[in-house]
Amino acid sequence: MSEQDTAGGGRDDEAARRARAREHIARGEHGAAWAALHPLWRNLSAHDDRTPGCLCGACLKPEVGALEHQGMRFERRFGAACEKVLWFWLPTSLTGRQDEIVARVDADLAARYGAQNEDDEDYDDEDGDDE
Ligand SMILES: [Zn+2]
Repeated sequence: MSEQDTAGGGRDDEAARRARAREHIARGEHGAAWAALHPLWRNLSAHDDRTPGCLCGACLKPEVGALEHQGMRFERRFGAACEKVLWFWLPTSLTGRQDEIVARVDADLAARYGAQNEDDEDYDDEDGDDE
């Protein structure tokens, strides 16, 4: 499990890896999508035991790409940038807008982590005010 990929850097590599994972998702290969990202990219999803299907590093089940909760159905998607990945559950009512939503998560992560040239890791604005 400690295998380090020598092709671990570069934006092109990152974009290609992200695209590959999304192709897996489009085919319903959720375990493969997770595996395309997992060893190299850090899972940013916070632990959440209030809702089922926690997506944090400890709880995420790679092969589970969908769940139902309170009569709604969700599919697992992710945003990724800067070698970080944020998994989330997308209600199927929003599937038609998923490209837009996923692209926004990508952009948010890139904005949060991409421009940091210094190691100011204290910056952490997780107040969820994205209404
Ligand atoms: Zn968890």
